[in-house]
Amino acid sequence: MSELLHAAGRIRIVLVGTQHPGNIGSAARAIKTMGLQRLVLVAPERFPHADAVAMAAGAGDVLDAAPQAQTLAEAVADCRLVLGCTARSRRIALEELLPREAGARAVATAAQGTQVALVFGRERTGLDNDELQLCHAAVTIPADPAYSSLNLAAAVQVLCYELRLAMLGLQDLAPATGAGAAPAQAGDLPASHAELEGFFAQLGDTLDAIDFHKGRAPESAMRKLRRIFMRSRLDDRDVRLLRGVLADAQRMARLASGGHD
Ligand code: SAH
Repeated sequence: MSELLHAAGRIRIVLVGTQHPGNIGSAARAIKTMGLQRLVLVAPERFPHADAVAMAAGAGDVLDAAPQAQTLAEAVADCRLVLGCTARSRRIALEELLPREAGARAVATAAQGTQVALVFGRERTGLDNDELQLCHAAVTIPADPAYSSLNLAAAVQVLCYELRLAMLGLQDLAPATGAGAAPAQAGDLPASHAELEGFFAQLGDTLDAIDFHKGRAPESAMRKLRRIFMRSRLDDRDVRLLRGVLADAQRMARLASGGHD
């Protein structure tokens, strides 16, 4: 988890051409409440400004540390992932992400040591097409299509919250059980610890039987395989299917080594 929280230092929130200084202050506050620190301002219309300080409240440090750039290109020059937040999907060939996907991708990328930027446009006109062309993907908060444009700082808050969930590893929590939760199907229950351990034990035996390790210590491969399967959140039906595959592999290995089925 701490590795993911470290990602915060490599993620910057870039505000392009902001018109209302109060929004810059509110964005700084949104950033700081979600454990992030880095705000970059591209050609703000009025800044520094008392309204920014007032709206930042306890996040004046984020405001004070915010560098200014002349252009978006300059602000993201060292970034290898740039996500542009836009209320409308434009007719440009850009992958479109939901905020949750954007949060996960941004944090995963930053956790690998890469600089990441989330870019927000002007209150009146958003990001122009040239600016969106600098982005690897567009992020749209799925607001009411009849009125889809959030206040700039509110949009920053939504995205920073998603970054926060991703940094805490919480973004793909299963829906809570209890009132209002969808009834769980028996087959959808995540596999129990015991079921998973039974599967891993059989996987280990199978790898031995097919001579997968070829003299290497089995621990490292098993650790990586465990990680893959733990990530996939197997349910009990998945485990039964996988164990069926392993049983057949074990049977074939026995046949191949001259044993009897
Ligand atoms: N009239 C502008 C709205 C700009 S709102 C337009 O149509 O583009 C200011 C900024 O807030 C936007 O540039 C965008 O970065 C962000 N924003 C507002 N609503 C959003 C939404 N639904 N999804 C993603 N970003 C949004």
